[in-house]
Amino acid sequence: MKKIDKSLMANSVMPDENGFFGEFGGRFVPPMLEPLMQEITDAYIKIKDEPSFIQELTDLQKHYTGRPSPIFYAERLSNELGGAQIYLKREDLNHTGAHKINHCLGEALLAKKMGKKKIIAETGAGQHGVALATAAALLGLECDIYMGEVDIKKEYLNVVRMRILGANVVPVASGLKTLKEAVDAAFEAYLEDPVTQLYAIGSVVGPHPFPMMVRDFQSVVGVEAREQFMDMTGKLPDNLVACVGGGSNAIGLFTAFLYDEEVKMYGIEPAGTSFETGNHAATLTLGKPGMIHGFKCYLLQDENGEPAAVNTVASGLDYPGVGPQHSYLKDIERVKYESINDKETIDAFFTLSRTEGIIPALESAHAVAYAIKIAPQLGKDKTILINLSGRGDKDIDFVVEKYGKAYGL
Ligand SMILES: *Cc1c(COP(=O)(O)O)cnc(C)c1O
Repeated sequence: MKKIDKSLMANSVMPDENGFFGEFGGRFVPPMLEPLMQEITDAYIKIKDEPSFIQELTDLQKHYTGRPSPIFYAERLSNELGGAQIYLKREDLNHTGAHKINHCLGEALLAKKMGKKKIIAETGAGQHGVALATAAALLGLECDIYMGEVDIKKEYLNVVRMRILGANVVPVASGLKTLKEAVDAAFEAYLEDPVTQLYAIGSVVGPHPFPMMVRDFQSVVGVEAREQFMDMTGKLPDNLVACVGGGSNAIGLFTAFLYDEEVKMYGIEPAGTSFETGNHAATLTLGKPGMIHGFKCYLLQDENGEPAAVNTVASGLDYPGVGPQHSYLKDIERVKYESINDKETIDAFFTLSRTEGIIPALESAHAVAYAIKIAPQLGKDKTILINLSGRGDKDIDFVVEKYGKAYGL
């Protein structure tokens, strides 16, 4: 690992005022959207440091989400592996069962402070839609969630959840009728009425200011974890591991440790079934710099340079791009990005369930699988802190149907 040049990562230059992390990020949007994105940027920069905003958000995190989420020492798993000691940051215990509520509450509260009546967003598998619908219900905002018709059929339970929460699920029938078309439709709707609506992106992706804003709202995870881990062990963790789809839970954990040279960081991408057939979403491992959804990042591309189709067992990781800050952290070698395949993920899903009584989300199981892989190679005096980004209840039907026989269910 390179010596850390702290000046490369100071918050004041990450991103710069145009939203760039090195060559990545930025804001590549149609001219009509540009002033709207600038309005959100200006409002966010003004509001984020206001004591009343910080106080309100902190209160919601504590009394609604249930923060701080605990850190749990996975003793049985550690003993079974016979190497490094494994700890879990339990984001799965948040209200709604994952880390996404952290940035959804932030974005919804920002919308309210900006005087907006409605928040809108796209959703793929429905996890972001449900978290945002939850935040909207809590804060008394209207909520429109754009979702491809194919995804609506596939993720019907989440569609119903959003409706129960009072959100309006808008079906998108163009193109492949999945996430990409849903993003386009949501941006179009936003352009039609930017005065009463605010767009709320679901990860550290999209045009500036979203990668910065979502990171800031997620960084509570690492701030808590740093203090909790010190209290528990008297030291910083030797290794951090988190799964990377767009990259919000990973950057949420990493941010508080970026300057701690002795802390190694691993972002884990889905290797899917195979690198050869393209059934993976290992963007930082196999992608090339390119453009998607208004920003520049490592990108999996087809032969025409368009975003490639991706597919893994964890729908929350199925994104051909990745956050610009992760693209940058890869290039300066501050974070190492590795991949874990579907089979290793399912094994880890069962291993954690059976050793610790914790059923992880398939996304999070990618991070668990990587820790299982490296722990035996490390000494017993070493530690690994995993961001357990979500709980696995949502994945049980899928796992039973596809892998139940093989695992004796
Ligand atoms: C959505 C999701 C992810 C992936 O999103 P990131 O922005 O990469 O964190 C990971 N884990 C869970 C449980 C999710 O719901």
